[in-house]
Amino acid sequence: MKIPPFSLEAQISEIGEEIEEALIKVFRSGKYIGGEEVASFEKAFALAIETSYSVSCNSGTDALILALRSLNIGQGDEVITSSFSFFATAEAITSVGAKPVFVDIDPENFLMDLALIEKAITSRTKAILPVHLFGHPLDMDKIMKIAEENNLKVIEDCAQAAGAHWRGKPLGSYGDVGCFSFFPTKNLGAAGDGGAIATNNFDLAKVIRELSIHGMPKRYFHTNIGYNSRLDSLQAAILNVKLNRLNKWIEKRKAIAINYINELSMIEGIKLPSNTFINKSGHSWNQFVIRIMDDSFIKNIKSTSENISHHSNRDLFRTELHRLGVNTIIYYPIPIHLQPAYKDLRYKEGSLPVTEKVCRQVISLPIFPELNSIQQSYVIDKIKEIFSK
Ligand SMILES: *Cc1c(COP(=O)(O)O)cnc(C)c1O
Repeated sequence: MKIPPFSLEAQISEIGEEIEEALIKVFRSGKYIGGEEVASFEKAFALAIETSYSVSCNSGTDALILALRSLNIGQGDEVITSSFSFFATAEAITSVGAKPVFVDIDPENFLMDLALIEKAITSRTKAILPVHLFGHPLDMDKIMKIAEENNLKVIEDCAQAAGAHWRGKPLGSYGDVGCFSFFPTKNLGAAGDGGAIATNNFDLAKVIRELSIHGMPKRYFHTNIGYNSRLDSLQAAILNVKLNRLNKWIEKRKAIAINYINELSMIEGIKLPSNTFINKSGHSWNQFVIRIMDDSFIKNIKSTSENISHHSNRDLFRTELHRLGVNTIIYYPIPIHLQPAYKDLRYKEGSLPVTEKVCRQVISLPIFPELNSIQQSYVIDKIKEIFSK
């Protein structure tokens, strides 16, 4: 058996026809920018996130850039965020001229360590940019409190957290702006790039809308240097079909996560996502991430692999799992602060020790709504096999 880390095959056979019909309708209309599909998606998405407004755009990265710009964050400003994220989180901050300031993470949930935020605040800090990584919600009550006390804006990176909640309220509805990605591997994925912002602030929604169309409030009248960042009508048609299924799909992801946790909890050397968190949390399980601890005993693999010294236990485990037919991905092997692109920020190795350690330990197991129970059992059996050697 071969298990992919992610696959859309089963989803396409489930809803492919419905999507094809929607696509043909848009294609035959000859209107590919804006129009009914985009308007109805924005309305439905705002409803889903429980915000007053939603503005669609070209990607999750653009959503972050538009949010930062709408809050006038730029040259000389600092934004506090996590280095354990997809590169785009920091890239968006840098691309508006501001500086990302990274705080270390909590190894239990992979999220920004809330106790470290206040120490990172300077006179230049303008905003906190929390990342609900893997779909795990940050404590938004605490973040909003810190932000209020220090007069900071909050931009939520919800790229992996569409449909996730904190205390029953959707992520993306807490901060000044919530930013979403519809990249195909996200919980709500388009057939290409797409993104959206959600906000309760009318003025911000208006500015973001204008910025996304060349800073153009009226046709050929430009009040700002903006972007060309729209969601295609064809992508909106797909998202309109998929949005109705988002919650059902998250429930399926959650069932898989619970199964993994139940079945793998006895293995020493694996650190699972915190068990107690599952039933009361609004985790959207975009990824199921475990840690292979440095003291795990994967002896047999060690003795058969080459260049032993260059491999962490995680890498050995991953190679062996791959050999047994289970493919995985590492989100993320190198923290943002140690990426060559950020050498000018002069973060040294060891400056964010938890983030750096976790990057060497994490591995994402296959998780997508259509991963069936036979496939789940296969993944579980192969992991047990590796650890029982
Ligand atoms: C995917 C992702 C982004 C960027 O979204 P794109 O649509 O790919 O531009 C930003 N932040 C995080 C945490 C992501 O996972």
